[in-house]
Amino acid sequence: MTHFYFLLFIFFSISAAILAIAFIVYSLRVRHGEGLRVFGLWMFASGGWIISHLLLFAVDSVPQAIWALRLEWFFEVLVPPSCLLFSIHYKDYRRWLIGWRQILLFVFPILLIFLSLSNSATELIWVNLSLNLENTFAPIQYDIGPVLWLFWLFAYISFLVAAWIFFRNNHIRGRAYQQQAITLLVVALLTLTMNTFFLIAPQSGVGFNAGPLSFTFCGVIIGLAIFRYRLFDLSPVVYHKLLESLKDGVFVIDKDKRLLQMNSQAAALVGINRSIAIGESIQSFFDEKSPWNAIINLDSSQVCEVEIERGQQKYVYMVSCQTIDQSKQVDNRVITIEDVTEQRNSKLSEKIARETAEIRASELDVLRKVAERLNRAVEMNDVTQVGLEEIVIGVGARFGYLILADSEKRPKINGSFRLPPILEGTFDRLSHCPPCKSFDQMMAGNYQEPVSFMPCEILKELSISYPGLISIPLHLGERYLGVLNLVMAPDAVFTGDEIRLLQTVGDQMSAAIERARLYESAELLATVDSLTSLYTRRHFFHLSQHEFDRASRYQYPITILMIDIDYFKHVNDIFGHLIGDQVLQQISQCFRTILRSSDIIGRYGGEEFVVLMPATNLENGRIIAERLRTLVTDHPFKTDKGDVSITISIGVASKEVETDLFLEQVLENADQALLQSKEQGRNKVHIWQNLIE
Ligand code: GH3
Ligand code: MG
Ligand code: MG
Repeated sequence: MTHFYFLLFIFFSISAAILAIAFIVYSLRVRHGEGLRVFGLWMFASGGWIISHLLLFAVDSVPQAIWALRLEWFFEVLVPPSCLLFSIHYKDYRRWLIGWRQILLFVFPILLIFLSLSNSATELIWVNLSLNLENTFAPIQYDIGPVLWLFWLFAYISFLVAAWIFFRNNHIRGRAYQQQAITLLVVALLTLTMNTFFLIAPQSGVGFNAGPLSFTFCGVIIGLAIFRYRLFDLSPVVYHKLLESLKDGVFVIDKDKRLLQMNSQAAALVGINRSIAIGESIQSFFDEKSPWNAIINLDSSQVCEVEIERGQQKYVYMVSCQTIDQSKQVDNRVITIEDVTEQRNSKLSEKIARETAEIRASELDVLRKVAERLNRAVEMNDVTQVGLEEIVIGVGARFGYLILADSEKRPKINGSFRLPPILEGTFDRLSHCPPCKSFDQMMAGNYQEPVSFMPCEILKELSISYPGLISIPLHLGERYLGVLNLVMAPDAVFTGDEIRLLQTVGDQMSAAIERARLYESAELLATVDSLTSLYTRRHFFHLSQHEFDRASRYQYPITILMIDIDYFKHVNDIFGHLIGDQVLQQISQCFRTILRSSDIIGRYGGEEFVVLMPATNLENGRIIAERLRTLVTDHPFKTDKGDVSITISIGVASKEVETDLFLEQVLENADQALLQSKEQGRNKVHIWQNLIE
């Protein structure tokens, strides 16, 4: 029977040793972590111990027994310190993990190994050594010597410390942690119990040396726990390495929101004392006002942003929550706090840069459009209308109107765009604004840039106030032309850029207005005679040619009067040229009173005039000519030197409907008729037709 137990013991021992070695090899291959190497050392010592222990059963002499014991001793003494080191690693006692302190644990065991090699010291370990081959369980008999007692003391202290370390782990509430803690405690207690049997009766049948078996057996349990409870995946060692190396703050919480782990970055960010916080509910860390409160209710796969102001700086943190593992054993979550301030700032500045570029582009676009359309407009009406349209649309105004100074510097309404119906009637009716202080100030050059606080009299008169009213002074250097009023959205705020844009479009408008005015006056000079305000000869030809074309197209007659003042030289000679000029001016007015607006009156030469009457036949032309002649004759002209009476001679010629005479021919005919009038004694009307007859 004892033989059977012995074989069973050997079978268990060898199986446990093989399993332990297999686990360690496998663990090292598939798992990583500092603790595994120490676990390897522990298993090496335990496995070596059990195998060398088996050698004890093979000896048949005392010297052999001593060497077998020495070999066993070599492994045996390494077991307690490696077990202790394992617990230290597992629990991540940083101070003990730094190089030389770990070696300290092995100083005493190594001393014991060397001691065992000396014969005299051997007797202090194994006292009264003898062989009893009959005893299958304990063939080598000895008493426990003082050094062996010392070793056991060391061993027990090591195990108790290890057990205490494992026990301390118990306060962490994570299920996985608890399972780990229980496994490790079982291991520690099992070892202690089994070795206590040995110490009570070292060489008895029942008290066979359970040491090597227990340690190896425990190694197997731990090996299993490595896989089952993720001993090293979730151990503080791995956490520490992983978490502390992150630049982000990391919390690990269980599903009841209890804090399992946190790295120092997280502790510093959130302001929690790590040593007291682990195992507590995270709800208890934050008061109501804490910005980190968001963490509490963050669910798996959710993300939130937390903004913290520290001093003058604003920090932005991205907080995200992830489940570590969806499996049944572990439903812990990792909350990471990432500092994204820089990213946000660079994004912000990128956004601002992009927006500014967009604003610049649209401003340039407005300027381009305004300039383009203003450049195309030549006449004043076009300039004001086109300018208003483009500016109002371009700057996004609700409506706009233009007030320009007239020749007497009064504020004249020169156009509007998108006027609200309530203003339309008033703007149509009025040609000028009521006397206006704002306008006077503008014209006095008090404002060079757009202003948004000046009241508009015309609006005031209608009891309307537009808070978004902005007035752009229109000026060319020191010369003030008027003001462009734009009504923006009521809450519009004008930045420096917008003010500059408004001023630039205003300047473009001013330049275009000036150009249109110059064009107008240049055209006036070319078309209207400055003394008589009648058309110049050149312009008369231009307009008449147009009339001739129309007459041919629409089939109506045209009559031309050629008028020359009789003896005008005398007037000049008697009264002087200035009086002559006054007579010329008045006679022009005189013609206007009789002629229709559709008639074209030109100053043909010095005191010669020409009149083209569309849709007028020869007879009617003659009647009108006669009327003109009579009016001039009966109507002395009032001059600075008294009344001056004159007479005129008129030649009349027509282009009848069926004829196709040119303008030049008809003019020539009229001229001939005039000559006839002169020849017949002046103060006469002659028609060309008569001449032919
Ligand atoms: P008549 O036509 O009857 O033959 O005699 P007349 O004296 O009017 O002769 P003519 O038509 O040739 O007159 C031309 C004169 O008209 C010459 C010039 O003194 C005068 N005259 C021409 N243009 C002006 C002008 O702009 N102002 C003034 N004051 N006189 C002018
Ligand atoms: Mg003449
Ligand atoms: Mg004359």
